[in-house]
Amino acid sequence: MLNKKLIVANWKMNPESVTDAISLAKETEKGIPKSLKAEVVIAPPFPFLAAAKKVIKRAELGAQDDFWEFKGARTGEVSPTMLKNSGVKYVIVGHSERRALGETDEMINKKIEATLKAGLKPILCVGEPSERGLTRTLRGFTRNYEMAKNYIRNQLEKDLKNISNLKRRTSNIIVAYEPIWAIGTGKPDKPEDSLEMIRFIKGILSSKFGVRSSIVLYGGSVNSQNARSFLQYKEIDGALVGGASLNAKEFSKIVVIVNNANAVK
Ligand code: PEP
Repeated sequence: MLNKKLIVANWKMNPESVTDAISLAKETEKGIPKSLKAEVVIAPPFPFLAAAKKVIKRAELGAQDDFWEFKGARTGEVSPTMLKNSGVKYVIVGHSERRALGETDEMINKKIEATLKAGLKPILCVGEPSERGLTRTLRGFTRNYEMAKNYIRNQLEKDLKNISNLKRRTSNIIVAYEPIWAIGTGKPDKPEDSLEMIRFIKGILSSKFGVRSSIVLYGGSVNSQNARSFLQYKEIDGALVGGASLNAKEFSKIVVIVNNANAVK
């Protein structure tokens, strides 16, 4: 568990110009309370990292992906060292949108190892597709925990296989639980269901990988209306926010909620 909650803004492939990225970063920075008790991370696309870095003072810089080698003939890739040298602290690894394009657990495993080796904090995204986590009933869909847990266990076992140095006192890896059907759909998971899954993930991290004080976030259609219902649980260490982070005012409301959730802990 974290002693402060973590909130990560994943801008995905937005906005379209550096000018727009700078104004979004400035607006976002303005919306972060001075008395910040949470950790805020902003993850713009690679071409906007440098510009965002100049503007954000109260937040940390994140990247949305990296590669598992450090230099050489790898056209189009970005190494963890390059990110580290650009002021990045966190890297989102294994987002379902990348897995959908063919990124495998084996690739993710290598990225996690390299990210840690470079001294960066990976945010490993895991999450099951609807057909592996929901069962249709007469009243709609209900959660099939057994299927979902098997899916997530399998992802964690492959993604974190033989990763060195996981059992540190301060957690150097973050997991984001993001059920795929909840991402970008406006249909978030039920907070109590994601709590069950996050407890399960923490159990695996502890029993299988020796990570005692793990950090696990929820992601999937988080907005200012629903953030509190997730963040009220002390086991949910924060949120990964996609769409809502592109609206600085909306994101700011979420940050304030996270900050207050922190204060009552
Ligand atoms: C995400 O990008 O990981 C995400 C959770 O997106 P959204 O908040 O838009 O569902």
